[in-house]
Amino acid sequence: MTQLNQLQELMRTLRFVETSNHLRELIKQAEQNDHSYTKFLLDIMQYEQKRREEKQVEKRLKWATFPDYKTLEEFDIKEQQSLSKKQLNQLGDLTWIDQLYNLVLLGPPGVGKTHLAIGLGIKAIYEGYKVIFTSMGDLVHALKTEEITRKSKTRLKRMRDADLVIIDDLMFMAMDQQEANLFFHLINDLHDQTSIVLTSNKAPKEWGELLGDPAITTAILDRIVHRVEIIHLNGDSYRMKHRKNIFGQESVTN
Ligand code: ADP
Ligand code: MG
Repeated sequence: MTQLNQLQELMRTLRFVETSNHLRELIKQAEQNDHSYTKFLLDIMQYEQKRREEKQVEKRLKWATFPDYKTLEEFDIKEQQSLSKKQLNQLGDLTWIDQLYNLVLLGPPGVGKTHLAIGLGIKAIYEGYKVIFTSMGDLVHALKTEEITRKSKTRLKRMRDADLVIIDDLMFMAMDQQEANLFFHLINDLHDQTSIVLTSNKAPKEWGELLGDPAITTAILDRIVHRVEIIHLNGDSYRMKHRKNIFGQESVTN
């Protein structure tokens, strides 16, 4: 076995896996640039650290299960007059996650609620937070099958361990008593440990009807609004404004 192979094997045993895979290049680089021993070692350590961070981000992005990759940079503030540049920056600095604030994003379909929620979630992952994105439908399904399937169990465990849980399209579906109960217990578990972002096209006063039980609804709302920023997004649907049509612009004016 060559010394290089020996070294690579040893590095793997010592859990320097990333460096081990890239060792040939790192050595070549040091030789070509006449680096000192200290610089060489520094490069190796920094390489390992950088790759570990990148892999963490990759893993967290995968676990988050965003339906789309939409960034905050792509969110055009000129299209959304109900939010100021300053407010968007404040949301983007993510200190509200450390302070365990919840966000409720309200507004009709197409105004950018999901985009904004995903954008904040992606930024949070790059800054080291654990984020889970779920639709209300998937969440209820996971809760009902938590004791039955490993997949749901894992998913909910990650949710309870997360720093930020995004629940998209709340109340899109009517819930029965058992579902409302399970949902309440999850919110109760997350409360005071995790920030929650909720999006909905229904005002909170309408949530009661959809959850069925007014007492459970009040209990859920109590926990959510304990520390909350409620953001009303309105205006025309971005989709409608930017829709593509078959006949081109002329047909609109004719
Ligand atoms: P909602 O969740 O409110 O129904 P979405 O977030 O799904 O709306 O937005 C609909 C589409 O319009 C998405 O493709 C989204 O990226 C885009 N969109 C909405 N608002 C904006 C905005 N302010 N800037 C850029 N794209 C936007
Ligand atoms: Mg949406």
